[in-house]
Amino acid sequence: MLRDRLVGAWRALLDAAYPRDCVFCGEPAGPEGYVCARCLARLPLARNPACERCGAESPVPGSHGFLCPDCLRHPPAFARAHVVARYAGPVRDLIHLFKYHRGLWLRDDLGDLLAAHYLACVAPLGVAFDAIVPVPMLRAKERRRGYNQALLLAEALAARVGLPCRARYLRRVDTGVVSQTRLRRAERLRNAEAAYRAAHPRHLAGKTILLVDDVITTGATCDACARLLRRAGARAVHVLALARPLME
Ligand SMILES: [Zn+2]
Ligand SMILES: [Zn+2]
Repeated sequence: MLRDRLVGAWRALLDAAYPRDCVFCGEPAGPEGYVCARCLARLPLARNPACERCGAESPVPGSHGFLCPDCLRHPPAFARAHVVARYAGPVRDLIHLFKYHRGLWLRDDLGDLLAAHYLACVAPLGVAFDAIVPVPMLRAKERRRGYNQALLLAEALAARVGLPCRARYLRRVDTGVVSQTRLRRAERLRNAEAAYRAAHPRHLAGKTILLVDDVITTGATCDACARLLRRAGARAVHVLALARPLME
């Protein structure tokens, strides 16, 4: 489209006039994003063994995957959660900028991170995904913030890996419940399930879904969303998140 070409030309001009500086070290970051290659290589990606089901990363380095006690006791409704990075240090800073400080200019960098992880770790599993679905946000909250960061990430990933993004497959409803982390697991899951609705089964029947979120905290949200999607007919749900804190 002409508009895209104009925007592209304008951006190239801007890049030449004002080279982008890396958000971490201030050195020129190159034309593609706002994190330079050196800082990108230093991000705390999830490198320790992780739970093969929920993606929680062990604080202890080693070479083998495992199942965490939570997943052994209560297997989640999703087949697997894939986590790109450890929610710490510079990754946490990036996500905070993106999420709470209108750092929309980071969308391409974060989209690249997600897509790289997808291609390296998810695609080789050979799962044929029908759609990418972002974890939805309350409409009032989304209006206040101006965007849903999970939706932006899902769209960025979808564009990079050639899958459709279907935000309407899940909806967030207001239950008035705010804080989740202090509750017991069963209550957390019940609250989380009440806070979302899946699309009509005719949209979901037999579909394999990749659910995308920015950060997995307790896992209850993804578990609940996956449960609702499957109850509505989805065949399987995988999760891909940018980050998750180290397992305690
Ligand atoms: Zn840098
Ligand atoms: Zn687990």
